[in-house]
Amino acid sequence: MIPYARQEITEADIEAVTRALKSDFLTTGPLVDEFEKLLTNYVKCPTFVVNSGTAALHAAFFGIGIKQGDEVITPPNTFIATQATAALLGAKIVFADIDVDTGLINLDCIKRAITRKTRAIVLVDYAGQPCNVQAVREIVAGRDIKIVQDSAHSFGSFINNEPVGSQADVTTFSFFATKNITTGEGGAVAAHDKGIFQRAKEFSRQGLVRDSSRFLIETHGPWHQEVHYFGLNYRLTDFQCALGISQLSRIEDIRKKREQIRSFYESAFGEKPEIRTLTALRNVIPMWHLYPIFVKDREKVFRNLRDRGVGVQVNYFPANQHPVFAQFKINQKSLQNSDKFYREEISLPIYSGLTVETLEYIVDQVEDSL
Ligand SMILES: *Cc1c(COP(=O)(O)O)cnc(C)c1O
Repeated sequence: MIPYARQEITEADIEAVTRALKSDFLTTGPLVDEFEKLLTNYVKCPTFVVNSGTAALHAAFFGIGIKQGDEVITPPNTFIATQATAALLGAKIVFADIDVDTGLINLDCIKRAITRKTRAIVLVDYAGQPCNVQAVREIVAGRDIKIVQDSAHSFGSFINNEPVGSQADVTTFSFFATKNITTGEGGAVAAHDKGIFQRAKEFSRQGLVRDSSRFLIETHGPWHQEVHYFGLNYRLTDFQCALGISQLSRIEDIRKKREQIRSFYESAFGEKPEIRTLTALRNVIPMWHLYPIFVKDREKVFRNLRDRGVGVQVNYFPANQHPVFAQFKINQKSLQNSDKFYREEISLPIYSGLTVETLEYIVDQVEDSL
């Protein structure tokens, strides 16, 4: 079976991890600081690492102060972690529909979804194309609403020559095995605002405050550290950071390979009437995370492809249709684009190790499966 996504691990990656395993620190060591510094430079925004993209979202929502009763607007076509992490802090999830040609949240739907209780809008960079943060910024101007960018798909993408991570109030990344770069499990949070950054980071480090200038109680000695709000252990290990550092050094190469695979598919499917492909945005340098195609009889094509050894996926079952949302009265009619998107979508294999021969095989199988 050709996988739909696969990590790329080089000899240099293996050496870097081995070196970390032989060093003094397995975790909370110097490689964590180094990875965070490199990420900060790359996305042009202060960034800290955590042990998953889900942890990154949880910390981000905590960092912007999401609490019981707040409303958080999200698109439906995303991994459920986007909603779960806000809901676990007590937020009410409000869905806004998407543009069916890009899979990105629709600006008018955001406007319609905003109420007095809205505290955050989550933008999900579907397939690696970044959402238009500036346009959303204009919509929320003058309101106490934060922009959260779930950039699990778009680490390494640029919009108007600005790296993803530098624009939203808080941006989250995932370094899961199938994502653009990987640490096995892992993630990161980027935020310019010092208060948001500090709250989110402390939350990911058990809530521990070590800076004596912020102590609220008298210290009993140099061992003192204190907790102002509860946090969790979302730390990433040093050997994972070693892998991340090594992967990050190849990011331009990874982008090129992903772009080549997308071009190959585009020239095969772009003109085919039975297949719709994603519309590419202008002013964007994407890191293509997914290559989705849209077909009328999705189930038939999906089954045919799996039977022929092509590992395909569906991204995503709309979050609003999960049973967990049954208790909330969601206006399903307002989410028709997301529903249509889901009913027709299939993600084809895309990862840097795909060879031209394999791509040719996949294209033939797709054509035979229609
Ligand atoms: C992968 C992903 C996440 C969660 O990341 P993990 O590292 O798997 O926890 C969140 N949102 C989106 C859109 C994702 O694709």
